[in-house]
Amino acid sequence: MVPRPAGRGVSLFVVLVFRTAVLLLACALVGAQPATTPPYSVLSSEGRRQLPARIVAGQEMVALEDLAGLFQLTVREDSLAGGISVSARGQTIVLTPGQSLATVSGRLVPLPAAPIREGRTWLVPIDFVSRALALSLGTRLEVRKPSRLILVGDIRVPRVSGTVEPQGALARLTLDVAPQTPHAVAQEGTRVVIKFEADGLDAALPASPAPDLIQGIRTGDGPASVVVEFGPRAGSFRASDLPGERGAGRIVVDILAATTTPAPITPVTPPPAPTEPPPVLDITPSGGIRTIVIDAGHGGDEHGARGPQGTLEKNVTLGVARRLKAALEAGLGVRVILTRDTDATVGLDERAALANNNKADLFISLHANASVRPSASGAEVFYLSLDEYGDQAQRIAKGETEALPVIGGGVRDIEVILWEMAQARYIEQSAVLAQTIESALRERVPMSPRAIQQAPFRVLVGANMPAVLVEMGFITNADQEKQLNSEGFQATIVHGLVDSIARYRDRQSTRPAAAGASPRPGGGRQF
Ligand SMILES: [Zn+2]
Repeated sequence: MVPRPAGRGVSLFVVLVFRTAVLLLACALVGAQPATTPPYSVLSSEGRRQLPARIVAGQEMVALEDLAGLFQLTVREDSLAGGISVSARGQTIVLTPGQSLATVSGRLVPLPAAPIREGRTWLVPIDFVSRALALSLGTRLEVRKPSRLILVGDIRVPRVSGTVEPQGALARLTLDVAPQTPHAVAQEGTRVVIKFEADGLDAALPASPAPDLIQGIRTGDGPASVVVEFGPRAGSFRASDLPGERGAGRIVVDILAATTTPAPITPVTPPPAPTEPPPVLDITPSGGIRTIVIDAGHGGDEHGARGPQGTLEKNVTLGVARRLKAALEAGLGVRVILTRDTDATVGLDERAALANNNKADLFISLHANASVRPSASGAEVFYLSLDEYGDQAQRIAKGETEALPVIGGGVRDIEVILWEMAQARYIEQSAVLAQTIESALRERVPMSPRAIQQAPFRVLVGANMPAVLVEMGFITNADQEKQLNSEGFQATIVHGLVDSIARYRDRQSTRPAAAGASPRPGGGRQF
């Protein structure tokens, strides 16, 4: 989402009200009755419950009464003022009949339709749940309309989609699993069962074009399993895991014909991953800069800092991240992965994990700063401080390689190290990157008096590559809030970052040994 300029929210709100009035009028003219639609399954750590829904004037609506039962809400109607107040965990949401918006603790949230009275209860659009209720409860409430799911809190319901491809003596089932989820694949009689470590599955499974090998694919009896039924020719199976895009995983299951030796089999690479994720990182050396992960700070429930005009840091970071991705891909020909491309809540370790899983060469986290002093101003560039990560991390950073906790030993082309130690190896390179960014930004935008700093930021700790965090300006400063919101300033920041990454890359390729390469076991320094 490109950040909203001031005033946009008001015009959007007017358009929504107008459109709703037209819809209500149309509804009244044709005398439309509420139509039923499949209920939602509400999944939480307490189990699965149902939330009925219906269509009124083209909008999917749910009853406040049902939501009150599910989420322990108190609904009160003030008949004199005509308002409806919904209280949850000490926070109050105010709805007004005829108005397609909700006020959540003083914040205006647009809704696609106004509340409608139905008998003794009120109907609200389903978006009320994700837009207003989630904000008020302070918990994750994810509404997945196509799969009729509402996910509450920290529960795992990966999306699973698949294809089946006949390949002569075998049929290959490919399942894409987002996010990547630990699982086990086993044969049980005449079927193969894939069990996921999850609370449920959001599955769209394919029909089989090879019924002689795969009779059918369905979700299993447990909360999170997929069952592949053998066809009459099937005899055995083999399974492999491949990494997917953006933290997704891919499972390939080949169902093999019973009698024939499968002749030309397309090998699946790389070899199967362990089903139990090890508490360590896989490290392979690489040169050059091919993949860059851009981290749009905050998102979803975490708004980050807020400007005096109400600008949210999470929107500024996402706007700049998207521009930066486009500019880096077009300008430097590198692959750029965003840790989020929507207003989603993403954990700090998850952000670094995405960079590690994609073998990114650089990690850049974007933020906007906050201060109690309204005059605080200027950009700051951070790299990790190891002060809070103990002696071992400091020894690794100084190149005392015997301290590097290598697991396995012997062969050095794949090494594994502890998560907390990942960034320690790259501190020098991160410092160089931070300096390069600082000087490129200084040519273009105001800098803070403390333009380069070290801090123990969690998001940088697990990054297994040079990593920095850029505070683009102080959103709490009224002038800077305007700048951070403006296309011109965002484009200038993006130019500065693209320029600095180009300079950093050139520096790496011309002075590979002197660029602060991290120490590696077995001697020598390499990038
Ligand atoms: Zn931030």
